[in-house]
Amino acid sequence: MAQLITDGSNHGVHPFVCQLRDVDTHLPLSGIELGDIGTKQGWNGIDNGYLRLDNVRVPRTNMLMKYFVVHKDGRYERIGSNDKAIYSTLIYARSLCASFYGGRMVIMAASVAIRHCLVMKCDKYGSLFENRFVKNTLVTELASGLAIWLAGNALSNEYKRLLPRIMDGDSSPLPALHAISSGYKALSTYLGPEGVERCRRCCGQVGGLVASGLPIISETVSPGVTIDGDNTVMYLQLARYLVKLERRRREDGDSKNERGDDVDNEFDSSGPNSKSFALHMIKLHGLKSQKLIEQAYDRMTSLVTSEGLPLYEAWNRTSVDLVQAAEAYTISYAVKSFYDVIMSCGNDQDGGPDRDDEDLKNVLFDVLCLFAVHSFVSSVNVCYHLLTDKLPTSNLSDLRQSIDKMVDKLAPNALALSDGLDLSDAELDTCIGTYCGNTDADIFNYVADVQPYNAKPDLLKPVLEGLRNYFKLRSRL
Ligand SMILES: Cc1cc2nc3c(=O)[nH]c(=O)nc-3n(C[C@H](O)[C@H](O)[C@H](O)COP(=O)(O)OP(=O)(O)OC[C@H]3O[C@@H](n4cnc5c(N)ncnc54)[C@H](O)[C@@H]3O)c2cc1C
Repeated sequence: MAQLITDGSNHGVHPFVCQLRDVDTHLPLSGIELGDIGTKQGWNGIDNGYLRLDNVRVPRTNMLMKYFVVHKDGRYERIGSNDKAIYSTLIYARSLCASFYGGRMVIMAASVAIRHCLVMKCDKYGSLFENRFVKNTLVTELASGLAIWLAGNALSNEYKRLLPRIMDGDSSPLPALHAISSGYKALSTYLGPEGVERCRRCCGQVGGLVASGLPIISETVSPGVTIDGDNTVMYLQLARYLVKLERRRREDGDSKNERGDDVDNEFDSSGPNSKSFALHMIKLHGLKSQKLIEQAYDRMTSLVTSEGLPLYEAWNRTSVDLVQAAEAYTISYAVKSFYDVIMSCGNDQDGGPDRDDEDLKNVLFDVLCLFAVHSFVSSVNVCYHLLTDKLPTSNLSDLRQSIDKMVDKLAPNALALSDGLDLSDAELDTCIGTYCGNTDADIFNYVADVQPYNAKPDLLKPVLEGLRNYFKLRSRL
């Protein structure tokens, strides 16, 4: 990709193909400088390269000209009105990021840690898992991983469903898809490293052993926040879309909030009906997200109208508020999306849920409620002043307390839920959380095999002799 400049006009970044190496010698062609960029923070199996082209002539026909063309005389012309379709691959990549970093990778870390902590004995409580802090951390992270994974998958499916329409020239679904995929990418890659690290800590220092598998997962997720678009920029892209929606809502004279006006401040989080509580949490998240975007919008417009700042400067000064609003919207969207996934569960082929599906749905509602409450209370401080009429302090306190009860309800299903993903021992690559739960034996087998000199004690003999000679020499001196 490179900036395309014709007749003095810059048309932006455009793709082209270009031969880099000699087919026989594999050496770079004249004017081409390339190489490997070296070791990175994670993803070292991918050999990212650098490339510099110095006076290299690329034939015009080497450009990928499906949506635009550069004519022989240098004229630039767009073909059709579907050039925005090229962004659709970006949307798909971001939806994959969403289900991967804060989803599958957190589930993997939680699975290893849950298996390990369940079998590690602890004097007072039976197992390490029964420590309140460990149990809350692991069950909450598992719930978060499942929620993000399912919401991310739902977005990928939505993209695949809409793609034929987009390729046929209907670009109307793109703005919303682009906005929410940007938000998901940011949310998931923020939650990923935090979640994996919290699971790792629950295992104590064996979680620091590379053989536990957890440091590898941690290294893989840690660069996610800047990969494929920095997260702040991602949230600001979503915020741009939300600001447009908010402006349109006000121009249309719609004084009602998009969601959340009907939040009921009477609720029961301990009752058997997780579904109705999930609906309550969807409204609460919707309200929080709406209040935050209203606040950011008001601040930005007042900087323009009262202080006379140009829009770009007002935007820059409001960017912290905008990022908070975008994050709240993304969580709210993920909660709603997870709810829709549960509701469609079992309806795919045979027309109606059977009993097993109902049982599964109930457990998934427990997962959803825990994710929804935990994500709400852990970020409510930034906007509590906007919610006091709908959420009295006593209710917020009840919500906080309800997390323990939800964790206790979900904990007996934690192992089954993580096993439900069929994560193989080979994929987890761990000696502390294998499927059979044989932690102690696995650790000993691993450390005995890991270094060649463990199996051959006399391997160190020459080193010891060398050291002895060295010190003798020193003492003579
Ligand atoms: C080692 C390495 C490997 C890579 N691998 C790949 C790869 O395999 N595939 C691929 O496609 N790309 C790859 N990239 C590119 C990568 O996607 C980008 O580096 C990434 O999108 C971040 O962009 P940036 O580095 O330009 O940072 P910038 O966008 O310049 O961000 C720098 C800082 O400025 C802030 N900032 C920037 N713009 C704004 C704004 N408008 N408002 C507010 N704050 C802003 C950001 O929040 C951030 O804190 C790689 C890059 C590196 C260095």
